Order: sequence, then structure tokens, then C-alpha cells
Amino acid sequence: MLKIAYSDIFRYSVPEKHRFPMQKYTMIPERLLAEGTITSDNFFAPKRLSEEEILTTHTADYWQQLKTQTLPRKEARAIGFEMTPELVERGRYIAHATYECALYAQQYGVAMNVAGGTHHAFADHGEGFCVFNDVCIASNLLLNRGQAQRILIVDLDVHQGNGNASIMADEPRVFVFSMHGAKNYPFRKQVSDLDIELDNDTADAEYLQILEDTLPRLIHEFAPDMMFYQSAVDVLATDKLGKLSLTLEGCKARDAFVLQQAKAANIPVAIVMGGGYSEDIEDVVEAHCNTFRLAQQLFFAELID
Ligand SMILES: [Zn+2]
Repeated sequence: MLKIAYSDIFRYSVPEKHRFPMQKYTMIPERLLAEGTITSDNFFAPKRLSEEEILTTHTADYWQQLKTQTLPRKEARAIGFEMTPELVERGRYIAHATYECALYAQQYGVAMNVAGGTHHAFADHGEGFCVFNDVCIASNLLLNRGQAQRILIVDLDVHQGNGNASIMADEPRVFVFSMHGAKNYPFRKQVSDLDIELDNDTADAEYLQILEDTLPRLIHEFAPDMMFYQSAVDVLATDKLGKLSLTLEGCKARDAFVLQQAKAANIPVAIVMGGGYSEDIEDVVEAHCNTFRLAQQLFFAELID
């Protein structure tokens, strides 16, 4: 069945006008439940990352600063949320959820985290709403425990996964593929295994063509046995931070293509959410819900449709 990581701790309390739409973490599960795409049986409550697990990926200094709430003000500000013990706790659950999703994906083909995709977190600092790097932590745990040998990260968030690129720079068993806006944050980009930079206003047809020309080749050449997919919806034309021009349908076609590729190649895929900042939260929620609907449809209900 489609396993979905969810915890109330995912929704962190932020000031009313904060640009991060924290309500999406409750709106997405509510909508999926209400429409019958999923039932409460699909959810699992993730465990918390241990200190030892954090240290597979993050530096001891950074962890100490988080643990003791002594992060320098400037570095706390770069994260973009108020730095509190709760924020650190939240990050520990989110990152472990991504790891658990990977294990469930190995069992069921696909699994999803309602949060995650905190790809701007580096080994020694956080930024851009990211404290811990969930996908890198999950990848390191899988590798260290012999649960995966070759991991492909498909990061289609409109912002480059600079943390992923940096953390995995010297790790040949992890291939980081990031397709993102050239003229967008982070303005000083890191070098991923493959970066594809998109012009402002790139629309559905061109976007999908590039993806179709790239992903099957990557899967063929790298031959991963595990895949993480960051299905952020800040590629939408309506996104305040995105600068691209995808429609809801284009975004859905993107997700369908990635999931079909993983399924056809028999590669377990763990999906993490990433960003989404459309003016109307309805667009964010609907686009994210499409990813869940597709996962359910493609992996578990193919014969019904
Ligand atoms: Zn983003």
C-alpha cells in the first residue's frame, strides 16, 4: 500500500504573513482523505532521528549549535524560521521520515513524505527553510546499512539543491540530478553530478522535453537501486518565487513521467515534497495532491483506472 509519513510536528508555527505556507502540511492529508484517494491506514508516524544518525551527514559543531540553541544569529536567520528547540525536533522527525519512506519504497515500490526535501541544508549549516538535509541523511543511512548501493536523487524543485550537491560531492554512490531555474536562489550554485539550468518562463512543453531527454538516460547509465524524487511545486507559473511557467497539468505530467520511469525500471522511489509558494495556497495543495494521486494510481490502482 502507499505509505505516507505524517506527523503533526511537521506543521511548525510561523507568523501569519510568513512566506512559507505551513498550512499545506495539514491541507494535503485532509484533502486526500476527504476525496478518498487515501485512508488513515496509509499514514505512518515517523520516528525521530538519533544524534548518531544526524552525524552521518552533519558536522558535530553544527549539531551542537542546534542542540544547545547557540547557532549564531546570522546563521539562524539564513534558515528563515525562528530557531527554537521545536524547529530542531521537527527536522529530526522529517529526516527520519524520509529514511523510513525509502525502506517502505523498497517494499511497495513507492512511499511519500508529506514534508521533506530540505535540500538547502549543508553539512555545517542550514539555509532556505532547511535545518537538516533529509535526503542526504537517508541516503547515508541506506548506504551505511547496506540497504542501497547506488542512489539517484531527482531534484525538480525550482531551486538548486545546493546542500545535496555539496554533501554528496565526493560520494560516487549517490548521483545528484538537479533541474532548476538558472536565475533563482541559490545565486551561488554548487556543482551537482548533473545540473540543468532553466531560463525564466520555461513552460510545460520545453520542460517536459528536457526531462524526457535526460531522466531515462540517467537511469540507464547510473543504474540506481534507489531513487529519491523531490516533487516540489515551485515550478508552477503561479509561484511567487519560481520564475518558471508550468501549469498544474504540466506539473502533473512531470510527476507522472518520473514515477513511470522509476516503476518501469523497478527502482524504489521515495518522494519528498520540497517547496511551493503560489499566491493562492489552493494551487500548492492541488499540485502536491496530484503527486499523491498519481502514486496511488500508478503503483496501486492501475487496473481500476
Ligand atoms: Zn524550492
